[in-house]
Amino acid sequence: MAISISHLGYKKLSRVIFEWQAADRASLLALFVLMEVFSHWLWCLFVWWQRDVYVSSVDMNLLYPSWIGVTLTGIFFFWMASRWSPLRKDGHSLHKWQAVLVAVYSIYIAVVILVMGHSSLVSGVSLVGGAMLAMMLIRRRYVWKAFLGHIVLIVVFTVFPYFGFVLPTLRQTATNANAFPVVTYTYMGYSAVTSVESNIYNSILQTSKLSWDALSQLRFSSAFFWRATHLYMALPKAIFIVYTFRTLLLILDASKKEILQHANQDELTQLQSRRYGLIQMKEALIAIKDQQDFSVILLDLDWFKEINDKYGHEVGDRVLAEVAQALLQSLDEETIISRYGGEEFLIVLPDTKHDSAMIIAEQLRLSIAKRVIMIQYDMAFSVTASFGVYTLAHDEHQRIKRLYEAKVRREEKNPFIKSQKAKSSMSKPNDSKTPIKQLPDDICQRLICAADKALYEAKDRGRNQVVSANEMCAAKEGVTTSLYGT
Ligand code: GH3
Ligand code: MG
Ligand code: MG
Repeated sequence: MAISISHLGYKKLSRVIFEWQAADRASLLALFVLMEVFSHWLWCLFVWWQRDVYVSSVDMNLLYPSWIGVTLTGIFFFWMASRWSPLRKDGHSLHKWQAVLVAVYSIYIAVVILVMGHSSLVSGVSLVGGAMLAMMLIRRRYVWKAFLGHIVLIVVFTVFPYFGFVLPTLRQTATNANAFPVVTYTYMGYSAVTSVESNIYNSILQTSKLSWDALSQLRFSSAFFWRATHLYMALPKAIFIVYTFRTLLLILDASKKEILQHANQDELTQLQSRRYGLIQMKEALIAIKDQQDFSVILLDLDWFKEINDKYGHEVGDRVLAEVAQALLQSLDEETIISRYGGEEFLIVLPDTKHDSAMIIAEQLRLSIAKRVIMIQYDMAFSVTASFGVYTLAHDEHQRIKRLYEAKVRREEKNPFIKSQKAKSSMSKPNDSKTPIKQLPDDICQRLICAADKALYEAKDRGRNQVVSANEMCAAKEGVTTSLYGT
């Protein structure tokens, strides 16, 4: 995608992100993850570099294993990012890739929060914001599950110390918790807190006085209690926000799907619309490999106007739907089938040689002709169709591309043609396409035009038959067919 980030306003950027393919959005999330892991790695480097300063507040014995862990995780994510490119066209593997990314990241971040310690504000923002960001970029289902897993881990880590488990933490307890008074705000485990409390209790018993110092200690020691309050004060809100956001995105997904369906699908036949069929055809042409041929079939129902006149428009509509069903049943899911006009259908067969395309067209002709359309229980009829087939052979395709590129180069070298082109593009401000981008559109139009000529030849020859545009061209020119007449 030839877009420079510096030229994008934030509105444009967000539009670009939403219009990106799933694989591109997933790679953006992987970039965020890598940046985060790298910042943790830099943090470890900084603490190690300033170890003399931080030795009293950071447990240096735990720093090195943590640093190695962060490095290994970074290498793993880097390796995952390198494997992303081949997944662009493979939806199933992309989903697996996303699931692994989210799962490993969730475990990693839970360990980071546990070991490196966290401020509740930062971890709260990271928990909610991270989930919302990921939901915008990858499969919402995986993110929601990871989010719930995170909540469970937070609850477990918070209550663990109450059961006497000592969890590893990089934060060094600066003072001995049993000593009294304790002058620290550092996080204390459950056993440390109870020991402080019993010290205070004993001191009150011995002196029969409640001093301000003792009260102050009570406040410090209840830090654990405050941490626990986050559970019931913040977590329900976090869950609610992320759940609502997820629901909103799901509603958006559903309405986007509905709008796209209306735009891309023909309501009567359930086939692709003409516009979407042409977009798909262009994409298929661009994706085709150098050694593959590309075939198109255009078919038109015979004497359809008479059917409308004789049985009525509603029956005509039913015939169109039945023919569409016949096409869908005879062709595989990969084939691009669209309603090109009123009773005209366009079939695109990527990677199909001419002989195969002719056989497929003949099979379609038979399956339409054989189909019996019942109007009433005692009245039935059938329809026929005429077919035009054209195949763009791979060598012809390559030759057209070479010719076109040479033409573009010639034009770029010739200042006169270039200035003429610049003038004409200024008069058409919306036409920002470069010539090389127009080539697939141009080829598609010529392919359909060639198939259309063969279709009308089939009508002329008496209808209900298949005619090859390639054979027509060869017969006329005495040479193999040429789409660009050169
Ligand atoms: P030919 O064999 O030469 O193709 O004859 P034809 O009668 O099929 O050709 P023509 O193009 O003259 O007629 C096409 C008819 O298709 C005209 C139009 O009323 C009808 N038609 C187009 N769209 C629809 C539709 O959505 N529903 C119905 N019922 N008829 C349609
Ligand atoms: Mg017709
Ligand atoms: Mg027609």
